[in-house]
Amino acid sequence: MSYAAERKQFGQPIGKFQGVGFQIADMITEIDAADWLTLSAAWRLDQGLPSNREIASAKLYASEMLARVTDATLQIFGGMGLMDDFPVERFWRDARVERIWDGTSEIQRHIISRDLLRPLGA
Ligand SMILES: Cc1cc2nc3c(=O)[nH]c(=O)nc-3n(C[C@H](O)[C@H](O)[C@H](O)COP(=O)(O)OP(=O)(O)OC[C@H]3O[C@@H](n4cnc5c(N)ncnc54)[C@H](O)[C@@H]3O)c2cc1C
Repeated sequence: MSYAAERKQFGQPIGKFQGVGFQIADMITEIDAADWLTLSAAWRLDQGLPSNREIASAKLYASEMLARVTDATLQIFGGMGLMDDFPVERFWRDARVERIWDGTSEIQRHIISRDLLRPLGA
């Protein structure tokens, strides 16, 4: 956000261009959604409620959100995003593993769909 507020092109901060501002709006919305999914799953776990599906949803959504957000962030930085002056390209690379370890995205989807469908006999 601070880069979008500082970096000027065509006489104005790039964050004022709707194409950039909308990306930032989407990013913060997805980050908040991941936070709430995580907090909700943690609350259920603390209460001793069934929470396998909620935990899988939080892990799935947060790790896939991270890929989208780091990719959009790198795009906002333009060419500077690929330089090591900023840590953005490292965040983008580091984000990739989150969809693999601690259960791949496919396994999280398997847990979620099994939790929903098994009680229905499917
Ligand atoms: C940097 C790094 C650090 C790690 N650290 C640890 C650690 O500290 N401790 C630890 O225990 N493990 C660790 N791991 C292992 C990690 O948990 C596994 O890589 C991960 O669980 C996926 O297993 P796999 O690599 O054997 O892939 P595989 O199980 O071979 O999966 C390969 C592909 O097939 C898909 N797939 C597999 N089964 C299904 C299915 N039933 N339905 C649909 N798709 C399926 C997967 O989603 C994936 O896309 C680490 C991995 C990495 C990359």
